[in-house]
Amino acid sequence: MTARPQVVRTMAALDRSLARLRKSGTVALVPTMGALHSGHLALVKLARRRARRVVVSIFVNPAQFAPHEDFGNYPRTFAHDVAALAVLGVDLIWAPSPELMYPAGFATQIVPAGAAIAGLEDKFRPHFFTGVATVVTKLFTQCRPNFAIFGEKDFQQLKVVMRLAQDLNLRVKVIGAPTVRERDGLALSSRNLYLSPQERATAPTLHRVLSACAAKIADGASIAAVIAEGRKTIEATGFDVDYFEARHAETLAPIASAKDGPMRLLVAAKLGKARLIDNIAV
Ligand code: AMP
Repeated sequence: MTARPQVVRTMAALDRSLARLRKSGTVALVPTMGALHSGHLALVKLARRRARRVVVSIFVNPAQFAPHEDFGNYPRTFAHDVAALAVLGVDLIWAPSPELMYPAGFATQIVPAGAAIAGLEDKFRPHFFTGVATVVTKLFTQCRPNFAIFGEKDFQQLKVVMRLAQDLNLRVKVIGAPTVRERDGLALSSRNLYLSPQERATAPTLHRVLSACAAKIADGASIAAVIAEGRKTIEATGFDVDYFEARHAETLAPIASAKDGPMRLLVAAKLGKARLIDNIAV
């Protein structure tokens, strides 16, 4: 039988619970915005393999949404999330309120550079990485985990958080976890709920094109030609493409040749009300 995880909502309760958990060993944190799916749960399973104790944070972070984005509509399924985490034996759920995280007078931001200004997500969501870096820094200082698990699904975010932890000496090892997909290749995302049945049938195109392009580049085809053709294929199925790019997998800098280092293809595209992102290693 699994014990229901403790849900804490105040700093004092968090401090008390963490002091108790740390007595029995290392702690891994899995930051989420809730609406949990199997992708999030895979991060939790990885956390359990890395650390003795697992903390999951659930916080829909207003600071990483622009005013026109979906903060108000973002799916919130807290009771279901707690039940799913109980099955996995999570020790603690940290569920702060927006007022706790950003009380009146809050005036400090972490503004990341490097991978955060690579001209990918940042170009289309200029608020995003400052919002993410600020909340992740707060979560890391609140929870002081030994490990933190982030998904490769949000590849640019993973790179930003890895750098942040190192640059600010946050003493947490940030670990990336592979993307969990539906059987047809679509990366699991809380935002897939926004897709109509017809859009849902189209959505796997993203992964299909990423895979085909990665294979062609690995076979020696011209990167520019493969990317241009892939973009056209994605657009032909009804997506509005924000970016589709080949980048250096570590720095996210533009990369002209497969000889110049490990490569990642990254895409973001809108389909109806949903904006989907995905990426793949070459
Ligand atoms: P979110 O709740 O969407 O902010 O995501 C919380 C964490 O789950 C982030 O580290 C994401 O990268 C990760 N994540 C989201 N979707 C997936 C997926 N399909 N596979 C693996 N990790 C994921």
